[in-house]
Amino acid sequence: MKVSRQIQDLMPYTPGKPIEETQREYGLDKVYKLASNENPLGPSPVVQKAIIQAIPQLHRYPDAAFFDLRKKYSQYFHLKPNQITFGNGSNELIDLLVRIFCEPGEGVLTSANAFIAYRVCTQAARAVLYEVPMTQDLRFDLGQMSQSLKDLSAQGKFIKLVFIANPNNPTGTYVTSKEMADFVETCKSFPDTMIVIDEAYLEFVRAKDYPDALSLLAKSEQVIVMRTLSKVFGIAGLRVGSLFANAAIVDLVDRVRNPFNVNSLAQVAALAALDDSDFLKQIQELNWQGLDGFYEALANMDVQFWPSQANFVLMDTFRENQVVYEQLLRRGVIVRPAVINGKKTFLRLSVGLPEENAAAIQALKDILPKVPRIR
Ligand SMILES: *Cc1c(COP(=O)(O)O)cnc(C)c1O
Repeated sequence: MKVSRQIQDLMPYTPGKPIEETQREYGLDKVYKLASNENPLGPSPVVQKAIIQAIPQLHRYPDAAFFDLRKKYSQYFHLKPNQITFGNGSNELIDLLVRIFCEPGEGVLTSANAFIAYRVCTQAARAVLYEVPMTQDLRFDLGQMSQSLKDLSAQGKFIKLVFIANPNNPTGTYVTSKEMADFVETCKSFPDTMIVIDEAYLEFVRAKDYPDALSLLAKSEQVIVMRTLSKVFGIAGLRVGSLFANAAIVDLVDRVRNPFNVNSLAQVAALAALDDSDFLKQIQELNWQGLDGFYEALANMDVQFWPSQANFVLMDTFRENQVVYEQLLRRGVIVRPAVINGKKTFLRLSVGLPEENAAAIQALKDILPKVPRIR
């Protein structure tokens, strides 16, 4: 068996530890999973009802053309139906974009500490990932990324795609409207470079100077916007992501994707979710209260944290994250260890229900003083 270096070097995805496994391993009744940025409320009742109603039609293939979904999304977001398509989660869309735009050896540009799927999909397509260091405050450094684009291009290294997670996972930080607009402006000199703005956490954003990606899309043919129903809408298990771009790009995605990439229940759920503004408000409020509670508690602990525009918070524990992670597991709290700038002292904590957040805070308070600092 002979496969390319890039495929051999792929790291298997580390999922958040499942609740049942943790219960079994540690002999616990109550386990709080704050590891995968999932919606702690579950799918909304409106969405659940729509799914149940669709079950008798499951002998039919899904609508490969997304007729209803496109129509509804186009009205909702003021786009043309041919500017919208969908993926099996936005993860599939990332994969498709790399396959569409990059020949093996061509470049993808993103930031260090960016969403991990950019790296995996780039490597799987035998393209080359260039990562620009983040700013001191752990944000995408779009100024430096502009410079890298110019430098790499001068060296004959063509960047076909730029991935900007806004806000980013796992840092929770965001780029401002001005920074994004300037970056899109720079890219005008590189018309074969597409700018992918991944807005998986859009609905959780509170920052006033957060960019309006759809208005950038209206002004630039290079802009591609991705959203997901996995986070705020609580249907991560169904896998639906959406992509907004100019019609020519959407056409390419539609040709490359599997025609039935989004199953019928997922399509029905996505249709119902969009109307469910009460649920949206509820999860936003829950998230913002949870985040503010985390900030207050973490400010009194021996950690550093970064204010987040998403549904999780990143902290530097200054301790070996595997040790803290393991201690938290013993207490029934599942979080996600993170490596930032090569340092294995970080944890990412998703916002859960009030009792879950309280359990996580209490566990951290108890554990941190007992684990020695390594920095
Ligand atoms: C969770 C996440 C996604 C979306 O994943 P799905 O495949 O749609 O579930 C995309 N981008 C970022 C930055 C994320 O954190």
